[in-house]
Order: sequence, then structure tokens, then C-alpha cells
Amino acid sequence: MAEVLLKDITKIYDGGVKAVDKANIEIKDQEFVVLVGPSGCGKSTTLRMIAGLEDISDGDLFIGGKRMNDEAPKDRDIAMVFQNYALYPHMTVYDNMAFGLRIRKFPKAEIDARVKEAAQILDIEELLERKPKALSGGQRQRVAVGRAIVRKPKVFLFDEPLSNLDAKLRVQMRAEISSLHTRLSATMVYVTHDQTEAMTMGDKIVVMKSGIIQQIGSPLKLYNDPINRFVAGFIGSPPMNIAPGDVVEENGKLVVKEDGMTVVIPKEREAALKPYVGKKVLVGVRPEDLEFTKTPGDNNLKASVSVVEPLGNETHLYIDTKNNQFIARSKPENLFQVGDEVNFTPNVEKVQFFDIETERSLFYTE
Ligand code: ADP
Repeated sequence: MAEVLLKDITKIYDGGVKAVDKANIEIKDQEFVVLVGPSGCGKSTTLRMIAGLEDISDGDLFIGGKRMNDEAPKDRDIAMVFQNYALYPHMTVYDNMAFGLRIRKFPKAEIDARVKEAAQILDIEELLERKPKALSGGQRQRVAVGRAIVRKPKVFLFDEPLSNLDAKLRVQMRAEISSLHTRLSATMVYVTHDQTEAMTMGDKIVVMKSGIIQQIGSPLKLYNDPINRFVAGFIGSPPMNIAPGDVVEENGKLVVKEDGMTVVIPKEREAALKPYVGKKVLVGVRPEDLEFTKTPGDNNLKASVSVVEPLGNETHLYIDTKNNQFIARSKPENLFQVGDEVNFTPNVEKVQFFDIETERSLFYTE
């Protein structure tokens, strides 16, 4: 297995589209790294440059310590699993998995051993003689993964491999790929637009927007300490509530007033907000950090409930304030109904603040 290093990797397509701008990513040996971001942010292009399916316009790519910019895909010791599986319809599952090894002239016995081992790992031994059209979506996806496993590559690359599966199967395959990662002790790079997949699968997540890496970190680092408004809003579901507020000094305390809610800033967090007194900042509160009461208090946000979504394990409340609509997470045994007037208190230890111009977090630490 191997580490993958991207140094200032840039991609400019013919016609001048800068799809990836100076990407620097260090993927350690055996690490599971997820590239995530909205459609068009450059994540597939980044993956395809690692695979050798796209030329690198600028920068250096290393796999296992060797510069790979000019190596052909077949010489990079990687295997890629695509969204559309790309199975050969006229071949059996066995032949689909064996194909890559046959064209590389592996001995027959070795091919047989590897296909059977992969089939056993993926629990598709019963399906080896079937053609792809006789398989379910999940089974096809397993075959596509099997085709990568038999190659025993240094690095596995996944390009949105679960997008074509229904929601339940996606959750199951997600766990299967995670456990495969543990079992194979492989380096894996995984592209998805789905933040839940990123959070649940990645050791490390790379968040991209418009070709530029925004933040690289563990799932919980991104959740608890997002570098900017974009990452704060992208990671987490339901998303963080973000709205502008005014920073003022009141009775010797620093407070941020937002939409009828007053957030008293704890002493240890005052320094970062001091320069903003008299100005506006963006205030970010995650749905679970809004606590609600029926009795008004100091930090209260007054609101009315507009939508109630009971999910069984929790309830989501959409609440209309004077200027915004916020989402709050409440206990399963929801006490509120549409139209109720309620008072919400933000957890002041967890509230995030962002510069209104740069959208950078005021509390972010490397
Ligand atoms: P993502 O995988 O995040 O959805 P892509 O890497 O596919 O994004 O695309 C990044 C940007 O590059 C987009 O603006 C897209 O339109 C552009 N792009 C992708 N492929 C090509 C191409 N072959 N030629 C020109 N522009 C492209």
C-alpha cells in the first residue's frame, strides 16, 4: 500500500475552466480520505488526475514516493470504482473480475485464486456465473468493487460509487466499504457530494468549493471547528442556522444580538469578537444547540413553530423568527405543534461566529 501526495495540483481544462486550483492533500498509507463538495467543485477532476485519466496542468503528484504526473494509468498501481459500475454486460461476473488480470497476462491459477478470494470477501461467490443484467444494483456494485480488489492495487479510488443505489442499500454499502477498508488495510480516496457519506466513512475529509480546498480535517474537527461559513453550512444535517447579528457591549458584557436573540459571549471567547464591536457578524447555531423553553429568559429567541418533522429518534422543528427561519432538533417526544409560540436559547459555548466579508470563522484554530 502507499501514500498519495498532491502538491499544488491544478487543472485547467481546454477553454480555460480552472477546475482545481493548487490542491495540496496528504493521504497517508492506509488512510481513508473523502473528497466532498457540491456538484462542479472539482472533486472528480482531482480523483481523475490521481488515476491518470486527466492530465495534470500544474503541480506534482506522488504515489508511494514516486512522481506520477507522466505515468500511464496502468503504471500507477491504482484501481478505480466508478458510479456507473462500467461492467461488461456480455461477460459473467467471474470474467468481469478476471478481465483486468487477463490483459495483464497473469497466470490462470493466480487469476482464479484472486477472483475467488475477492468473491468471498464480498459475499458474491454464488453469483460468479451470472451476467450483470441478472444482478441487483447492490450486487453490481459489489462486482465493481471486486474488480478493483483482484488487482491488489496500492490505492483504491472511488468516484461516487453509491449514487445509483437506493437509500437503504447506500447505507449498507457504506458500511461494507468501510469494513473493506479495515480488512484490506488499503489506502482509499473516495469522492462524494454527500456529507453524510463523508462524515461516516472518512478518516479525513477534504471539503472543496469552486476548485479550491476549503478545509481538511477529521469529521469531528470539521463539525466542531469549521474554518468558514461554507464548511459550517455544508457539514451537518440539518444544516447549521446562520444569520447576521450585531456585536455590542452591554453592561460590561460582550453580546451579539440577532433577530431578538441575545447571545452573551463567554469571557474566554471575548477576544476574538472585540474587534467587531459596533459591527455585524454572522452567527451560526447548529440545530441541536438551540434549546427551547416555554418561559422567556435572557438569551431567548422568540419564534413560532411552522413545521414539525417527527423522525422517531428526534423531531425537527422549523421555527420562524422575525427575520429568519431556523431549524431546531428536539427530543422524540415533541412538545410543540405548528403555530406554537416558543422561546429558544442558544448554547453560547457552541455558537459560531463568522466575519461577514471573508466568511471566515472567528474562533478557528489550525
Ligand atoms: P465535481 O466532481 O465536483 O462535480 P468536476 O471535477 O466534474 O466536479 O468538475 C469541475 C469543473 O470542471 C466544473 O466546472 C466542470 O464543469 C468542469 N469540467 C469537468 N470536466 C470538464 C471537461 N472535460 N472540460 C471542461 N470542463 C470540465
